[in-house]
Amino acid sequence: MAAQPTHDLLVVGAGPAGSAAAITAHRAGLRVALIDRATFPRDKLCGGGVTGRAMGHLVAIFGDRVPEAGFHQTTHIRFTAGPRVLRQITDAPPIHMTTRVGLDAALQARAVAAGVEDCCGQRIAALDVAEGQVTLADGRVLAAPVVIGADGINSAVAKALFGRAHDPARVGFALEIEVPGLPGDGIDMDMTAAPWGYGWDFPKAHGRTLGIGGIAAKSPDMKGSFQDWLSARGIDPATVRIKGHHLPFGELRPSPGRDHVLLAGDAAGLVDPITGEGIAWALRSGQLAAEAAVIALRMGAPDRALALYQARMAGVRRELSRAMWLAKLVYHPWLQPRFLNLLASSDRLQRRYLEVLSGELDYGDVRLRRLTGLMLRVLTGRSG
Ligand SMILES: Cc1cc2nc3c(=O)[nH]c(=O)nc-3n(C[C@H](O)[C@H](O)[C@H](O)COP(=O)(O)OP(=O)(O)OC[C@H]3O[C@@H](n4cnc5c(N)ncnc54)[C@H](O)[C@@H]3O)c2cc1C
Repeated sequence: MAAQPTHDLLVVGAGPAGSAAAITAHRAGLRVALIDRATFPRDKLCGGGVTGRAMGHLVAIFGDRVPEAGFHQTTHIRFTAGPRVLRQITDAPPIHMTTRVGLDAALQARAVAAGVEDCCGQRIAALDVAEGQVTLADGRVLAAPVVIGADGINSAVAKALFGRAHDPARVGFALEIEVPGLPGDGIDMDMTAAPWGYGWDFPKAHGRTLGIGGIAAKSPDMKGSFQDWLSARGIDPATVRIKGHHLPFGELRPSPGRDHVLLAGDAAGLVDPITGEGIAWALRSGQLAAEAAVIALRMGAPDRALALYQARMAGVRRELSRAMWLAKLVYHPWLQPRFLNLLASSDRLQRRYLEVLSGELDYGDVRLRRLTGLMLRVLTGRSG
């Protein structure tokens, strides 16, 4: 039997998507519980690259650039294809580097300080999404007419709705190591480090994060590739701790929820399949899910929440669908060598690629149509 509502909204998962949803809904007057099995600060495997797009969402949702997250900014990017340097750029749009342990703790603390009820550090003992009910390991029963599942790539909420959290045939996988010490002088992106993906070396305030990622099913020995890649960069793989994590690299979920249950961030499959960017989409979808919940509750129709959310998410879906189409041109094994030659030689393609990468340019922007034109010339073998 359904329990009496204790809140207006339950948010499961307190990463960027969950904290964004919780603070947005609380500011609109809802009683919100923010639930996470982890106690914050907690780590999350991630490059920690925060683009201009993500920064914009941080400011819009949290009121400023969240300086306590400790950002390290760079405008230097080097594109490589293995040992071949394609281009070195020193005036790229700024990308902010952080650690997720710092960023996520800052966002969760902001939500709690605003008045969201902190239900983190408790495992979920039972989850009844149809009834909007969560039983925590300490016996507390939380219930609300709307639930937002922001619980990441292995989302228990998505699993409860659809039987599985993600499609193993399409999901992405990434491996990373942390190298403490002095930061490097910029971002390195190796476009051939993994099939349908790339390798990165990101400078942080106190070291570097190196990783490779791509579509899991197309990289049966990603660990071996990563070890070889590290050796080629002068790092002995036997001396470092390699960690891996799935990400929805181009696995956009057809429906981000059901009736009064909404999915945001990785739980909804919102990662850019070209750049691997997920923080911006997690923040934005969390915010939009909360806005949909607020309106559905004001209408007295919590089951309308999904329709309201889908309408708000149309732009995000369009962006990621365009990215999925373009990813075929960037990463397809037949086309990639031509794409990389063009990237090395065309200033215009480089600029647009950088603008996309740093979140300054949307895939729907008219200038991207010119980029697409260039890409199609790659297909037909004519130079740009
Ligand atoms: C190796 C790697 C590198 C990446 N690099 C970048 C990058 O540089 N820039 C970028 O923009 N994106 C990057 N991404 C993607 C980015 O990390 C994700 O898209 C982003 O974290 C999604 O945020 P989220 O809030 O949806 O989920 P998460 O950040 O995963 O948060 C989910 C939360 O839910 C909680 N949770 C999970 N299950 C339960 C449960 N059953 N009960 C209670 N709580 C639960 C977890 O503890 C967690 O706190 C990278 C991903 C990987 C794997």
